[in-house]
Amino acid sequence: MSGGESFFTQVNRMFDQAARLVDHPSGLLSQIKHCNSVYRVEFPLERDDGSIDVIPAYRAEHSQHKTPTKGGIRYAPSVNEDEVMALAALMTYKCAIVDVPFGGAKGGVRIDHNEYSPRELERITRRYTFELTRKNFIGPGIDVPAPDYGTSPREMALIMDTYTQLVRDPLNALACVTGKPVGQGGVRGRVEATGRGVFFGVKQACDYAEDMKALGLTPGLDGKTVVVQGLGNVGYHAAKFLQEGGAVLVGLAEVEGAIYDRTGLDLEAVVAHRAETGSILDYPGAENVVPSARALELECDILVPAALEGVITKENAPRIQATIIAEAANGPVTANAAEVLNERGVLMIPDVYLNAGGVTVSYFEWLRNLSHVRHGRLSKRFEQRSAEQILNAVENLTGQSFSPNIHAELSLSAGEIELVNSGLEETMVLAYNEIREIQKEHGVDQRTAAFVSAIDKVATSYLEMGIFP
Ligand code: NAD
Repeated sequence: MSGGESFFTQVNRMFDQAARLVDHPSGLLSQIKHCNSVYRVEFPLERDDGSIDVIPAYRAEHSQHKTPTKGGIRYAPSVNEDEVMALAALMTYKCAIVDVPFGGAKGGVRIDHNEYSPRELERITRRYTFELTRKNFIGPGIDVPAPDYGTSPREMALIMDTYTQLVRDPLNALACVTGKPVGQGGVRGRVEATGRGVFFGVKQACDYAEDMKALGLTPGLDGKTVVVQGLGNVGYHAAKFLQEGGAVLVGLAEVEGAIYDRTGLDLEAVVAHRAETGSILDYPGAENVVPSARALELECDILVPAALEGVITKENAPRIQATIIAEAANGPVTANAAEVLNERGVLMIPDVYLNAGGVTVSYFEWLRNLSHVRHGRLSKRFEQRSAEQILNAVENLTGQSFSPNIHAELSLSAGEIELVNSGLEETMVLAYNEIREIQKEHGVDQRTAAFVSAIDKVATSYLEMGIFP
């Protein structure tokens, strides 16, 4: 929220700002902007101790200009109707920006997933899926969920299992949800896809020497200091790939607090420390930063908010020291804060583009599920044999043996992961360049340019349908 303005209102304000730069009839723009349908349900959950909780849940389908609609399912206390509508709208624009042919959707269950046992979470997930199925809000050609905040491949497997039992569609049921475990129809590379996409997007931004010069930075990722908020799926992987790409992680923030070390933090060691002690705080050699939100104001080149929306507001925006804000989460910078930061010349790489890696790889998974062909089936034997030969050659040369795990992993994954990652990189680079061109053409900020790209593409789809004169 920003000054009382709801999340969906803010998304629409960003839309309106961009809509001024395109040349489409107002009726069409209005059709694009509005949320087509929302399903709200409250169902009872029997807790492990026999008591009953009533669980509110939602699914919003923002636009059916392409079907199925697509978007994650979030388990968080913040979930409400406005939030799922805003997130569904962002999905519509995101899919358009990266040319993934889906409409936008989003689901949410209002719970703190940390307060429920695995059995309780299973009952919630199955009942939610039952409700979506009953109301026709899920299906391979209707609406296809994926993981989001608070959910993981486990929930996706439960959704697929429940849906498969309820609907007689043995051929295509697997494609009713993406982000599934690899053994159950998922693709390799989906778990880390959003974080990897964030890395590709940030890297592409940093590779433009003239843009970096305008920000007072040197080109390239190498040596750039980074602060990441949220060490979940997106934040952890973004941090990992940025670090591997040469950036220096100086700050990491989680719910309990944050840590800072200007000489650089070792991500894996921090994660191990948190697993062992239950907290990110008191990591050897680092400074504790409490409260955690103060991490957003630390000195760094790149700030990566990867937790929830509305964390950078008009109030703390003037204290942000980062030169680049990489919106890995959805909506971390409020519309009012964006105005302040734009004025200060901060480069904000917008969520609608930057976290599109997840849906891009989900598209590969959905396609593969529908085609009923395992990737590279025909060439797989050949690829496995070549990879084995390389491993054997290295073993002979070095006199050291790789573990059986490495051999097994290689024989399973040869081909697919490379294909997924190169498809993802290509998508993120192309979309960045497209947005940058629009930015230059109109002399606007990157978020407005991304919305212009999205509006034009969605409008074109509607016009191609021939519905609008
Ligand atoms: P997640 O549940 O895996 O991780 C979120 C992490 O953020 C958790 O570790 C949580 O403890 C931490 N967190 C929560 N509040 C915090 C705070 N105030 N300060 C610091 N840390 C905090 O969720 P995720 O899937 O990584 O999603 C994060 C964001 O990325 C969300 O906005 C989501 O919509 C967006 N996103 C996710 C995906 C995906 O593929 N999972 C795709 C696109 C966008």
